Amino acid sequence: MRNRSFHLALLFAISFIACKKNNTIETPAPDDNANKVYAHILKLGFPASEIVDKPGEFIVEGDISFSKDMVVPDKVSTEQYYTGSLVSSTKVTNIRLRVDATMSSMASEINSAIAQWNAVPGSRIHWTVVTGTYDVLIINSNLGNGVCGSGTFPSGGNAGGTIRINKNYIAGNSFAQRARTICHEMGHNVSFRHTNWSSIGESSATAVPGVGGTDASSIMNGGQCGSGATVLSTKDKQAAAVLYPL
Ligand SMILES: [Zn+2]
Repeated sequence: MRNRSFHLALLFAISFIACKKNNTIETPAPDDNANKVYAHILKLGFPASEIVDKPGEFIVEGDISFSKDMVVPDKVSTEQYYTGSLVSSTKVTNIRLRVDATMSSMASEINSAIAQWNAVPGSRIHWTVVTGTYDVLIINSNLGNGVCGSGTFPSGGNAGGTIRINKNYIAGNSFAQRARTICHEMGHNVSFRHTNWSSIGESSATAVPGVGGTDASSIMNGGQCGSGATVLSTKDKQAAAVLYPL
């Protein structure tokens, strides 16, 4: 009897050790880069309550994607409003946009959005549709109810790499609103934040020098999926010319 208890105890001890060992092996090490990305998002002034943890990315304010393996910039100079991280002055003159096959049915809306950005007076921003090597891929993605699309901020001097459009969700919107969604997300990919950041609860944002403040006409106002401004406002254009001057 005594022997049996001893064996049982030993068995428990072994299985406990085995379990522990297993845990050590199987539990992935905490993902340092994801933690860094999370800290970076907070540093940009986004409140924790606006950050949604998804596999492989954080989604902020519904439509801004931060990849968990993104390169986090060392310094964040937190200005209409931008991330402090710009597309390089050479790259911004030729942002190659590839339209994924899933988005080819919205080619007209995409071209309309491109035409708006390319027509900003005094700005170097220039988008071109390509079929080969690209800087930004625009792709259809089911982002759930209420989200029209998502963009990605620039990093390392490159435009944000992806724009996702909730195609089925916006299909019922007017042409102008569909093009707005695309134009808005393109703005994120060249560093624009939501102009109405303060009213959506962000603690800080870097104002584009000389072009801060609120602007009800800004295409970069967030949370206006299907109802917001459909053309770049005067201040949107001024901001684009300040950040990316000719
Ligand atoms: Zn947005």
